[in-house]
Amino acid sequence: MIRVHPVRLAATVFDLLLPPVCAACGVTVEAGGAPVCGACETRLPLIPLPRCPRCGFTRLPDLASPDRCGECEPWPEQLRRTESAFLHEPPAESLVHGLKYRGWTTLAARMGELMAPVARRLAPGPALLVPVPLAPARLRERGYNQAGLLAEALAGELGWPCLAVLIRGRQGRRQVRSGRADRALNVQGAFRVAPSFLAGAGTTHELAELPIVIVDDVITTGATAGACAAALGAAGFRCAGAVSFARTPPRVPGV
Ligand SMILES: [Zn+2]
Ligand SMILES: [Zn+2]
Repeated sequence: MIRVHPVRLAATVFDLLLPPVCAACGVTVEAGGAPVCGACETRLPLIPLPRCPRCGFTRLPDLASPDRCGECEPWPEQLRRTESAFLHEPPAESLVHGLKYRGWTTLAARMGELMAPVARRLAPGPALLVPVPLAPARLRERGYNQAGLLAEALAGELGWPCLAVLIRGRQGRRQVRSGRADRALNVQGAFRVAPSFLAGAGTTHELAELPIVIVDDVITTGATAGACAAALGAAGFRCAGAVSFARTPPRVPGV
């Protein structure tokens, strides 16, 4: 029996009833083509150079601390690097919003394509793509994990494996308006490696030998990716870094 989640079913019905439109600006696009118009794609905001080699965000080179910056200094050591395709500003923000809150799951394929060259910066060879998990209650509410869809799209694009290695134990508050300290506390200890992937569980996966690239839709302070990397590190996994479609600019530019 094929099970179709109501959100996906609704999105499919709307797709059939309405002409396809660009997820960012609303202009009509070709049926079956990209879910974003060409004009919006060319306006997707790249992260300006020069960038911090660890967090990938814009900052001037600092001879005293060449391998990190004030933004990524508090991150746990297990989070070695992050890379994001675009700034979390329009029109990239609209794509994230559409994928996450409007049920436009077809966006994931194109967003994954756009993330692929960025993910390769973290791991030149094959890596195991691990999505940031949603809390079970949020997964039931949304019907899908947007990070999981992006990880699957990336896996298809790069030919890398993708596994839901991490699980999220507790709900946590919504982080949309939380500050740095709040976010770090909110996710501390929220993630763990699923029992079937733990060494000694009898089912340790051969893919666990690969470096791991964590996948998320947006990186804001790095607290979530950091908590995921810490959980993976504690279970003996080697984390190459985290990749996201979008990156929220730090509140103080250049820090
Ligand atoms: Zn558009
Ligand atoms: Zn940095």
